[in-house]
Amino acid sequence: MKIIVLICVTIISVIVQAKVIVFLYHRFDDARYPSTNTWTTELENHIRLVKELGFEIWTIRDLEEYVYGRKKMNKDAVVFTIDDGYRSIYDKAYKIFKKYNVPFCIFLQVGAVGYPDYLTWEMIYEMLKNGVEFGNHSFSHPDFPSFISKMGEEQMLEYFKSDLQRAQQVFKEKTGRTLNYYAYPYGHYIPQMIDILKEEGFKLAFTQNPGPYDLSYGAFEIPREPLLEDWATEKHLRYVLNREPLVTENSPFVLQNGIMTIKTKILIPKEVRYATLYVSEKGIIKSHLKDNEIFGETKLTKMYNRLMISANDGRKEYLRYYLIFNAQGE
Ligand SMILES: [Zn+2]
Repeated sequence: MKIIVLICVTIISVIVQAKVIVFLYHRFDDARYPSTNTWTTELENHIRLVKELGFEIWTIRDLEEYVYGRKKMNKDAVVFTIDDGYRSIYDKAYKIFKKYNVPFCIFLQVGAVGYPDYLTWEMIYEMLKNGVEFGNHSFSHPDFPSFISKMGEEQMLEYFKSDLQRAQQVFKEKTGRTLNYYAYPYGHYIPQMIDILKEEGFKLAFTQNPGPYDLSYGAFEIPREPLLEDWATEKHLRYVLNREPLVTENSPFVLQNGIMTIKTKILIPKEVRYATLYVSEKGIIKSHLKDNEIFGETKLTKMYNRLMISANDGRKEYLRYYLIFNAQGE
């Protein structure tokens, strides 16, 4: 009886905690850019390891179906995505993905297609024919929120909209297809950009915040794990696959005059033993935890920061990253 109860509890907890981890790559076998490079030997190891550990490998379309409640999750899943559209995708990674029959999605900087070091339309046609998925990664890859200080928020949003429409238009002209997914250049965005993506008919949008994805995060702030440089190792991959999505009651931070105040109740995990607040420009900051509520405060000087809330229930690490945009920051 005890064993049956235990099995039931285990099954329920597996279902409750099912998660999706979206991998992010840029270049392959390209020693010129170590900070955005992944070796294809490492890529092969990633594919082998997720298969060995029993993860499902999803297409972006599968993820869309899941996010919109049309697909059930049986096991934890991973999705492979590659940003920018460099030529080494076609020259190096494509044959590895084919060898293992693994789907992947390229987030294309549409305005760069055909330039030296980037994919050509011929390469894109061939990959489309073979089922490779594509998403919009802007036309000209600007750091959109940084333009607020120069042109104001409204103008920046106009700029964002016209850039993404231009990318849509060119891709449609060249391939006859519409892109339904967006990856924010540099992972930088503000909430108003999400409204525009919705108006323009996009279904999903991807950040560069690491961490696993939980349905409660919505469709337009999907985190991704960069598996490049030092983070391409098996050790790091095992670590990221083992983390669980943290869920809070409300948006956990407020930013006012450069002061960020963190105050939220952690809903998952249910019983937090200890928790950590980490801010990229500060490192770990002082925090107080009481009855699953966490508090902290710090002054920010940079335009972009990532806040990480990490909590441990004695069994596993749960975490979520948030992009913090401070228009007055340097
Ligand atoms: Zn990019």
